[in-house]
This record gives sequence, structure tokens and C-alpha cells, in this order.
Amino acid sequence: MTPISYNSALVDWDGPLGLPRFAAIADDDYGPGFDAAIAAHEAEIEAIAAGPSEPTFDSVIVALERAGEALERVSALFWNRAGADTNDTIQALERAIAPKLSRHHSRIAQNRRLFARVDAVWQARAASGLSTEQLRVLERHWKGFVRAGAALDPDRQEKLAAINERLAELGTAFGQNVLADEAAWSLHLDDADARLADQPDFLLGAMAAAARERGHAGGYAVTLSRSIIEPFLAFCADRDLRETAFRAWVGRGEGGNDNRPLVAEMLALRDEKARMLGYASYAAYKLDDTMAKTPQAVNELLMPVWEKALARAGAEAAALSGLIAEAGQNHRLAAWDWRFYAERLRARAFDFSEAELKPYLQLDRMIDAAFDVAGRLFGLSFRYRDDIPGYHPDVRVFEVVDAAGACVGVFMGDYFARSSKRSGAWMSALQSRHKLDGGRLPVIYNVMNFARPAAGQAALLSLDDARTLFHEFGHALHGLLSDVTYPSVSGTAVARDFVELPSQLFEHWLTVPEILTRYAVHHRTGEPIPPALVEKVLAARNFNAGFATVEFAASALVDMAFHTAGAPADPLAFEADRLAELAMPEAIVMRHRTPHFAHVFAGDGYSAGYYSYLWSEVLDADAFSAFEEAGDPFEPETAARLRRHIYASGGSLDPEEAYRRFRGQLPSPEAMMRKRGLL
Ligand SMILES: [Zn+2]
Repeated sequence: MTPISYNSALVDWDGPLGLPRFAAIADDDYGPGFDAAIAAHEAEIEAIAAGPSEPTFDSVIVALERAGEALERVSALFWNRAGADTNDTIQALERAIAPKLSRHHSRIAQNRRLFARVDAVWQARAASGLSTEQLRVLERHWKGFVRAGAALDPDRQEKLAAINERLAELGTAFGQNVLADEAAWSLHLDDADARLADQPDFLLGAMAAAARERGHAGGYAVTLSRSIIEPFLAFCADRDLRETAFRAWVGRGEGGNDNRPLVAEMLALRDEKARMLGYASYAAYKLDDTMAKTPQAVNELLMPVWEKALARAGAEAAALSGLIAEAGQNHRLAAWDWRFYAERLRARAFDFSEAELKPYLQLDRMIDAAFDVAGRLFGLSFRYRDDIPGYHPDVRVFEVVDAAGACVGVFMGDYFARSSKRSGAWMSALQSRHKLDGGRLPVIYNVMNFARPAAGQAALLSLDDARTLFHEFGHALHGLLSDVTYPSVSGTAVARDFVELPSQLFEHWLTVPEILTRYAVHHRTGEPIPPALVEKVLAARNFNAGFATVEFAASALVDMAFHTAGAPADPLAFEADRLAELAMPEAIVMRHRTPHFAHVFAGDGYSAGYYSYLWSEVLDADAFSAFEEAGDPFEPETAARLRRHIYASGGSLDPEEAYRRFRGQLPSPEAMMRKRGLL
């Protein structure tokens, strides 16, 4: 075979601090780079599968851990560009490369000789004297094969492949149906329409843009995108119009583009797949490698929260009904009334606006604040290296230094929105830390989409922005502080219901008084933020918490019920029955009703997994209470345990065990309910 020629700068990272020389890589280099790296990985896999040595942890598992470094580097660079600095060439490559990679990975998963060797190591594990981390690494490889069907006979493997293929088709169709229903519905209002009277400027701006997008020369469009419909329902005083819009919104996926038969078929196929692989239900299959582990554990967590949220929502409904009566109306509180009257109550109870807060939240000071918290908790400091170029001129490169002055990694911050960047905020790794073969230091980056200030002006953030900055930096610390031997369990390679703990927990330090008063200073006067303003902001956070918790938890409970119940033939009847059992309030609708529950049915990402968001919140609230109980948000011993068992341990421990080692016990939902104001 002739070796494929490619630009070696993709793989030999010989820039300062071990970074790639980004400027030496051209867009056209990625195609040949991927081909060469995939071929190299295939050769490595083939050598492992072929033996000839005795299958041992070293000759099979460690060899698999070592294999594919070139592919990891090319991939890390490419997906960084695809998300944060894309263009037409990169997008075209993305379409070509995604199926190539997926074929490459399924070839490995279906390699029977390779699985036989992994299985031999697995079967011999009891007597092999492996460490806890090594056993976890072995288990991860073995389960990866088994969950992909490697242990099935060829007939059943074929059947499984057909099920997977059909599920992928149905998931795509489900998502497209929701999009089609959203695109098909909009309500055009003329400039002079009196029903627009109380709409705030930001919403009018968004509705005007939506009208133009839909081919109108002027006026405003109400659409079913969450960023328009939710504020519209909160500000539209015309009750009939609210009802019309609300019904269209919650009816997505059951009208012209009917997702109900798709859901029924998906549930049946998922159930069949789980049983083929030896699980009692699809939920049991999905939860097997999570912290929660079983559907029962999820329900045990959700039900106490549900009871408290129902009680709170009942009190909220009574207050809103009072407002309806006060306004001289005599109708009941309906689902399309809730947001409208809640907004009136909010405006009355909390008289502040985001605009008052913004002058105190400067981007550069908030970055310093996040670094300071990492210093106080974990002894890290961050040296800005303006002499080292990142992957884009906006990127700031920091050398991460530990308490002893040693370089322990690189952090890159890419903060401003630009047209080449996708929306949202995320953390990723160009390189994960591990200790094989001399080891690798972590190269971690955060990408944000903050508005770029005018020249010479300070970049100012909203409170949500500042929270996002801390959130993503918490993920970054999970990568930077990783302290494990094997790459596959490094940093954020942890269970789906555990991965948001380091990020959500870190958000708590933003509003710790000694951080906020030090870093939230007025960009002109330098005055610290007034404590009364902080108090108002924090109090407003829990407004309407009963409603928010009920609409969310209802979706999580129905998701879990669907995936433990086998294959209900009529999904909407099943949804209605489950909600009736739960005593769902009539004025609240699930955050995502089944026919448009994309997290769960447009793909498989969050099936039997929507609970994870609340689960993570239970973890972060309970974890932060450890510092509250110690009486100091930076208490050194608690911080040391947090570092060792949560931020450093990656996937080397069972997540439940990791948490227990940090906290001395498993989390209870009390702290989360207190944080949400439900107690
Ligand atoms: Zn996150």
C-alpha cells in the first residue's frame, strides 16, 4: 500500500507549549490527513486483532488505548474548526468525513477477532491483578463491543444492524417532521396591530426579523421557535391570540406531519434491541453506564421533587388566578394564561432590569474571577501568552501553571461571536491528559458567543452570559485537572448524568460574595456591584420555580415511563395515562410533549436520559453544600477532596463511588429543592 501523503503539521504538534502550528495547516490538508490517519488506525487495529501474542491487558487493551493518536489529533483540529471557525470548504469536508468516520468505527466494533481477544482479557479479569482504573478501562472497551452487538450470533447481528438503521431513519424523520410543523405555522401581524402594544423591543425585533425571513415586506411574525413563542405568550394581552398560538405550539408533531406512528415504532424497536442485548428494557440498557444505573433510582430521585414542585405550582396557580380576578376577568387559569400572568407578577415583585446589572459584568474581569476561583480551590494560575497564536486571532492562549510553578496544560478562550462560529457555548479538548508513554498535557478550549464590543469599549455580559462563562470553565477544569493513566477515561469521558457536575458546580462560585464584590465592578466608576441589586437578582431566580420544575419533570418522568413500559401502541394515550397518575396540573403542559420531544426521539441522545439535567442539578447543589457546611466557599480540605475525586478522576471510578468519596455519602435532592426555592 502506498502511504498517503499529508501535511505532517496535523499530527506533529511542535509549536510552543506543544500546540499545533495552526498557521501551517490549510483547509485542504484535512481530507488527506483523515485518509492517512484512518489508514494508520486500521493498521494498528489489525495488528492488535491478529495477535500473535497471548491476549493480555497490555497486548490488547493498552494497545487499543495507544492506537489512533494521529486520527485523534486530526479529528480534534478538524472538529475545532468545524464548530468555531468554519467556511464552505470545511463544511463540505464535514459532509464527506462524517460517514467515513462512522464506517471506520463500525468496522472496529464488528471486528470479531478483535472482540474475541478483548473478551478473553475480560473473562480472565478476576485473576489478573488489575487496578480499579484498569478494570474500568477494560470494562469500557468490553461493554462498548457488547452494546454494539459483538457477542451476538451473525443472524442476530444482522437483525440488530437492521434495527439500528431503521431507528436512525425514524429519528431523522421525527426531527424533520417537527421542523416542518414549525416552518408551516406562523401568524403575521401588521405594524398597526393593536395586539402588539405591550410587546418588548427585543421581541418585536425578533418577530420583525421572522416576518422578513418569511417573505413579508414588513410587520411581525409570531413563530413556534422557543425564543419567540415563549416571550410572546408572556407579553400578549389578547387571550384568544395566546390560545391560538399556544395550541399550535404544543400540537407540533401531531398535525400534518404526524410523529405518533413513528414514536410507536421507535419504542417497539428500542425495546426489541434492549432485549436482544440482554436488558429488561431500553431504559435499563441506556442507564447501565450512568451514575443513576436503574430507572428505579431515577424515579426515586424525581418523585420527591415532583411532589414539592406540584405543591409550589398549586400556590403559584392560586396567585395567578388572583391576578386574573383582579384584572376583572372571570375565566379559569388555562395553560395559555400562565406565562402572561406570571410575567405581570414578576414585574410587580422584582423591579429591576438586566440593564442595571450589565455595567458591572465586564468580560475580562469575569475571566479573571473564574481564574481566581480555580486558584483558590485548586492552586492553578493562568498566564496569558499573547506571544502564542491560537486557531483564530480572537483566541487567547493561557499557560496553566500549578502551585509549584510547573506548566500543567494549556487553556484557550475564544469569547466573541462571529459568523464562522456556530451558536452556543462549549468546552472541548485538542488533547486530553493521560500518562501513557511519557504522557500528554491537556490542551483545553472554551468557545462562547458574547457580543463583540465597539472599538475601545468594554465587553459587558448579562448575568446569564457570566454564568455560561463559569459553566464552560468548569468543564475546562474537568479536562485540565484530569489525573488518570489511560486516555479513554480522561477528563470529561464520564457518564452522561455526571458530566455536568463539574460545570454546574463551578457556577456557584460566580455569586459567592467575595468573588462578586471583587470582580463585578462598574466599568466606568470602578464601584463594586451594590449588594441590594445582587439580592434582588438572586431572589428573582426562583420565581415561578413550581411551574418550571413541573413542566420539566413531567417530560423526564414520561420519557422514563416510555422506555420501561415495553412498547405502548398508542403513545399519546400512554402519555395521558401517565400524566393522570402523576396528577399533572391542568394549566401546565409538559415542556416537550411526546410528538415533538426531539431530545428523546430525534436521535437517541437523551432517550431515557432527559432526567440527567435535574440529576446533575441535584449533584451540583448537594456538592456545593459541602462548602456551605464547612462554612467557607474555599475550604481547603473540601476543595482537595473535590479535586481528587470529582475533577481529577475522570472515568477511572464508578461515578457513584467517586461522589461518595468526595461527599462521604450519596447526594440527596434536598439542596437542589432548596436552591430552586421548593422547600
Ligand atoms: Zn455543560
